[in-house]
Amino acid sequence: MTPYERSKIILRFADLLEKHSDEIAALETWDNGKPHEQAAKAEIPMLIRLFRYYAGWADKIHGLTVPADGNYHVQTLHEPIGVAGQIIPWNFPLLMFAWKVGPALACGNTIVLKSAEQTPLSALYVSKLFHEAGLPPGVLNVISGFGPTAGAALASHMDVDKLAFTGSTETGKIVLQMAAKSNLKPVTLELGGKSPFIVCGDADIDKAVELAHFALFFNQGQCCCAGSRTYVHESIYDEFLEKAKARAMRRVVGDPFRKGVEQGPQIDSEQFEKILRYIRSGVESGATLESGGERFGSKGYYIQPTVFSNVQDDMLIAKDEIFGPVQSILKFKDLDEVIRRANTTRYGLAAGVFTQNIDTANTLTRALRAGTVWINCFDVFDAAIPFGGYKMSGQGREKGIYSLNNYLQVKAVVTSLKKPAW
Ligand code: ADP
Repeated sequence: MTPYERSKIILRFADLLEKHSDEIAALETWDNGKPHEQAAKAEIPMLIRLFRYYAGWADKIHGLTVPADGNYHVQTLHEPIGVAGQIIPWNFPLLMFAWKVGPALACGNTIVLKSAEQTPLSALYVSKLFHEAGLPPGVLNVISGFGPTAGAALASHMDVDKLAFTGSTETGKIVLQMAAKSNLKPVTLELGGKSPFIVCGDADIDKAVELAHFALFFNQGQCCCAGSRTYVHESIYDEFLEKAKARAMRRVVGDPFRKGVEQGPQIDSEQFEKILRYIRSGVESGATLESGGERFGSKGYYIQPTVFSNVQDDMLIAKDEIFGPVQSILKFKDLDEVIRRANTTRYGLAAGVFTQNIDTANTLTRALRAGTVWINCFDVFDAAIPFGGYKMSGQGREKGIYSLNNYLQVKAVVTSLKKPAW
């Protein structure tokens, strides 16, 4: 199919997403438990935008001519890599679908995508819309299945040419080994995080409190880039803590379909129990429980928005990815100290910096070992902005121009010339 044909199909698909956005947002909430307003107002528009962005790329991908030494005409062809295997998680079922499918299709590949076992509905539904948009049968294949069976089959398959995975660091290591042991398929990994959110003494406190709250509690705390270590300068620590605690206590928890609800249930009993274990570990290791700390209500996997203060770097709640509504607030004295502490983690996905001082912002931006640094903002996810991790948060980048290379092979074509080239 020509690149322009591909582009038109992806654009038609985006139009169909727009037309069916009510059903799609409802499916996402049913499956995942996330607030319907969040799915409808934030995630579905981003989903549509992402596909339009990649539709725009489809006919702008091309090689180069290369001025090589000797009597040759040299060019590169940027070809599709082939069959892309894609494994996605449950926290943002459709956005993860888009980050993977958008660039793979724009580059002309075929796809076998495995959705997460907790959230199979929306990927199946939108695949039907892709078919309606004119995508030929067999180009996009969606599988519902479990990780160690369906996921492992994809990761170790000899006919899968590329693997893209988003999930936990533990599983990332497993699929990377499977890819190596089978056909050495290239792998992109988007894994866990323990991102610092640094509030300097000169920050706009109210804005920082609100965004630190958002950075952690958004999507029930189930974000790989959650700002899960809130470092606050000692000069504003007490005021920040009071306000952060008050904000968490105001957070509206409940039926995700009810208007105004900010936080729904956690994804499943396994995550629910794991988060409660981390909360108990925080209390046992001596952190101060400022608010929450228990299940919310008596049924469903709801957890009270929880805030800990006096958190120390060596506590489990400051080291492990909790993936739940548990904010850890830590105190710092100076920039060198907070840089060292922020970087003392095996992860490196994202970081937030709150300051009014350009020099402080520049110093922190350069020193932090993270794939994204948000300054006076957080969780800004434009389709054109690359996303990915340093260290054990992953390999490669998704979104933006950077994701195209994940789905292309470069072929060098060298042609001998009859007449001298130079
Ligand atoms: P989480 O702990 O957030 O559920 P996982 O890494 O377990 O994260 O899951 C992310 C995705 O990886 C899901 O689609 C899951 O089914 C898949 N998965 C889990 N285990 C494996 C495995 N052994 N091989 C391949 N895929 C797996």
